[in-house]
Amino acid sequence: MASNACGHDWVVTITQQEEEPELDSALINAVAELGEFTRFAIYINKTFNIGLPARLLNKNTAIEELSEQEVLDLLAKVSRNKIRISRDCGVISTYVPIYYTGNVVGILVVESDKELTERCSMLAIYMLNIYANQLSLLHKSQQDPLTELLNRQTFDKKVIEIAANTAVEHDSKQCHWFLAMVDIDHFKRVNDNYGHVIGDEVILLVAQLLKNNFRIEDYVFRYGGEEFSVLFQASDELDARNALNRFRSCVAQYPFPQVGNLTVSSGFMPIYEFEMVASLVQKADQALYHSKNSGRNCVTAYSELDIQQSQPQDDSIELF
Ligand code: GH3
Ligand code: MG
Ligand code: MG
Repeated sequence: MASNACGHDWVVTITQQEEEPELDSALINAVAELGEFTRFAIYINKTFNIGLPARLLNKNTAIEELSEQEVLDLLAKVSRNKIRISRDCGVISTYVPIYYTGNVVGILVVESDKELTERCSMLAIYMLNIYANQLSLLHKSQQDPLTELLNRQTFDKKVIEIAANTAVEHDSKQCHWFLAMVDIDHFKRVNDNYGHVIGDEVILLVAQLLKNNFRIEDYVFRYGGEEFSVLFQASDELDARNALNRFRSCVAQYPFPQVGNLTVSSGFMPIYEFEMVASLVQKADQALYHSKNSGRNCVTAYSELDIQQSQPQDDSIELF
């Protein structure tokens, strides 16, 4: 990294990153260029939820990787702005906290021959704090403000990424990605009978049930209004259907305050090969409409639909 007159180019580099992998690299480079050590490891809990495991950011570190519990123990020992130092057989280990809004969300572990200067330690603290702030901004820009689910823009990016990787990895994988579209049944009645504030609360509660029903590695989006989409992994179509049915029945049994009972319908399909986002969504939507036409409160796979024959035979894509 070229230095300007004040030597703080890293601030500019970190705060201009709009993609997470590039942001991570910018931090790793900035820490490496602090210059008073060569070996370090950065652990961070990117969800900023206290108590969740912190993951290693710089995978090619020369320092032996710590266990989840060891990292959690270290996080508990450092506090905001406080550095810990330990000495073992001439090696000095320095533990620098990564904090975000007052909470310690990660740690930088440094091994060196000499104690870090105060300037270096303070720079590391600022660097890590600025990284955490930028990461939080990045995450907020990917979220829908009401539900805190991922937003529509992030959906498009994620589908493209998954569809591109699926085309490469297809044969060797045990699990496959599936796309589901989910829509609340008769939601207009909620707005009409109870008003938009209660309507918004229902959307929020359904979003939470949806998020809780899927794994941390799955992606749950607010696609728009009272419609959601999920990108999730399952071993086969039956497994995927079971996951969606579990969520469907969870909503059907949930006592929504004031409103009472509600149901959701969904449609889903596997992502087996590269396909345009619009085409994947259209197919999952067709399956969703089938659920709506079959009395709602149900799950339909695209493969169940008898529509392949009625598709146009030529391969041209109609964009508008
Ligand atoms: P269906 O079972 O066919 O889905 O019937 P529906 O009444 O749910 O119909 P549809 O999905 O077309 O209706 C969506 C309604 O959701 C229309 C709109 O007024 C309402 N809506 C969309 N976004 C929001 C929102 O952010 N908050 C609230 N309160 N309502 C919203
Ligand atoms: Mg609806
Ligand atoms: Mg709808």
